[in-house]
Amino acid sequence: MKPDQGHLPGDAKCPYCSGGADGYTTTEPAGKPRTGDITLCVYCGNIGVYEVKEDKVIVRKPTSEELGIFFTEIPDLQRKVNVIKKFITEQKMKNN
Ligand SMILES: [Zn+2]
Repeated sequence: MKPDQGHLPGDAKCPYCSGGADGYTTTEPAGKPRTGDITLCVYCGNIGVYEVKEDKVIVRKPTSEELGIFFTEIPDLQRKVNVIKKFITEQKMKNN
């Protein structure tokens, strides 16, 4: 399936690094993120959780309970987090 990309209403920021979190890419047929969906920050590699309000989308830190569920139920999540964090580290080294 071809990934869907878009821009979310509001000015969502990563709760860890304050990087912009207002764009998304998904392979889900439903398209736009919904409340409770997770995101991996492209700036720091941390996991955030979408909260979709009427006119804006925010990203919050997951609770420790949620993190446990995500790592249990989402295949390959730890590997994906590691790939993103390695990529971010390599980019930072290239740019220094
Ligand atoms: Zn971040």
